[in-house]
Amino acid sequence: TEQALQFSEKLSSVGQMAAGIAHEIRNPLTSVKGFLQLFRARSQDRRELWDVVFEEINRIENIITELLMIARPKQSTLVPRSIGHILEQVLLFLSPQAMMNDIEIVNQGPEEELLINCDENQIKQVFINLIKNAFEAIPPGQAGRVRIHITRSGDYVAIQVADNGCGIPEEVIRKLGQPFFTTKEKGTGLGLTVSKEIILNHHGSLSITSETGKGTTFAICFPLHT
Ligand code: ADP
Ligand code: MG
Repeated sequence: TEQALQFSEKLSSVGQMAAGIAHEIRNPLTSVKGFLQLFRARSQDRRELWDVVFEEINRIENIITELLMIARPKQSTLVPRSIGHILEQVLLFLSPQAMMNDIEIVNQGPEEELLINCDENQIKQVFINLIKNAFEAIPPGQAGRVRIHITRSGDYVAIQVADNGCGIPEEVIRKLGQPFFTTKEKGTGLGLTVSKEIILNHHGSLSITSETGKGTTFAICFPLHT
């Protein structure tokens, strides 16, 4: 099944509003977390309950961080950067996690230097979101493989992130990218929403091919900087 994710303006405005709310929540949350840390340091008992409290607070923080990513693309200035170089940096950062989970990363970066007009941190975020999803799609105990392939295709840079994980059923593919849609117990359902926003703001496109039980490929296209 191959499907292009729809870029809808409506989604974008919902995202903007959510990001605005996230911004308002962040400061009071930081303050609450600080006080709770103080209380925990002074209390001797019920350690396991404190763990739950902080796990949940971290979860809220993760959601807020991802929501804030949605707001940023519009303010950023785009500059020409090497896509292969950005990928190298992301893989350096993600390789310990791959090793721990027995996942092989196959880096098929571009053979020539390909520049795209971008906000480097945002493109990194897209790579991180897609590659982490690929890791998480691989069932424990399975020999996982995640392949990242980048090549020039005319005036575009074509990027593929392919995994040999669980795959995505068709009815789920249709929901991908909707804010807060997740099938994971501890997911935020924001990774793809954020990625779509970033790709849209870089005048790119995103499509998905998946086969249940075999794996998934996310394909991105960005205009080449010339
Ligand atoms: P989260 O990872 O927090 O659940 P995402 O927006 O990153 O949120 O992904 C949304 C959902 O898309 C995931 O919960 C999962 O069901 C599905 N998904 C994304 N990438 C993959 C993949 N590579 N393989 C299988 N399912 C995926
Ligand atoms: Mg994710």
